[in-house]
Amino acid sequence: LTEELFNAEKYHLIGQLTASISHEIRNPLTTARGFLQLMGRPNLDAATLDRYRINALEGIDGANAIITDYLNYSKPSVEQPRLLDVRQELANVEQWVKPLCVMSNVELVSRHNTGDTLLVTGDSKKLQQCLLNIMKNAIESMPEGGVLTISSRKEDEKVLIFIRDTGIGMNEQQLKRIGMPFYTTKDKGTGLGLMVVTNLIQAMGGRLYFRSKPSQGTICEVHLPLEKTSRGTSVSDQPAPE
Ligand code: ADP
Ligand code: MG
Repeated sequence: LTEELFNAEKYHLIGQLTASISHEIRNPLTTARGFLQLMGRPNLDAATLDRYRINALEGIDGANAIITDYLNYSKPSVEQPRLLDVRQELANVEQWVKPLCVMSNVELVSRHNTGDTLLVTGDSKKLQQCLLNIMKNAIESMPEGGVLTISSRKEDEKVLIFIRDTGIGMNEQQLKRIGMPFYTTKDKGTGLGLMVVTNLIQAMGGRLYFRSKPSQGTICEVHLPLEKTSRGTSVSDQPAPE
């Protein structure tokens, strides 16, 4: 019964959130539409046309950013949870963020202990959405460039993923607020990225930790329960590599 109540409350919250997110997407789209309509007026000079065009594009970009951060979260899972190789998932996401790193002058360092396979249970798209949102934040925290370091390892019954940046960092007040819906310090932020991450990681039975120092950088740790089949069945199995 407790479980059911919990779910009812959770779905109520998700419903409210979906309503406000629709609103957040509709606003910039309405703006974009308005400017496109204005562009149809006769005798507009080139400068005005250009301004309308830029405003319309910004509206579309804004709507797109919300969809990107929220993408797989709002969709009910069609995929059954399955065994995921964390390193494989990380490698996939790293492929997507590589071009972002290049554009921002960020060096991507990928450090994995390749000796063992780290298995977790979950939905690949959702896990990748989490990792992408965290890595995007890391890159966005380094507007002047820097180093993005990604590593992973096994510890006890857990898989630990570390995403570290050398960016602007956060103070204690900021650290307390991250993950709240629509909390953002960015001009073009959505404030949805970490809310989505928090929810998805919790749903996988995991935890999320942030350590940060202003102007030094941030370390994000994702802890996920290690799938039993990769915990090693007997003591005589090959020793875990360091
Ligand atoms: P958004 O990226 O759209 O602002 P998020 O939920 O992804 O929304 O992040 C919320 C806020 O948390 C960001 O606006 C930023 O202030 C802070 N933040 C998150 N990750 C980092 C990071 N790696 N370094 C510095 N600040 C961060
Ligand atoms: Mg973000």
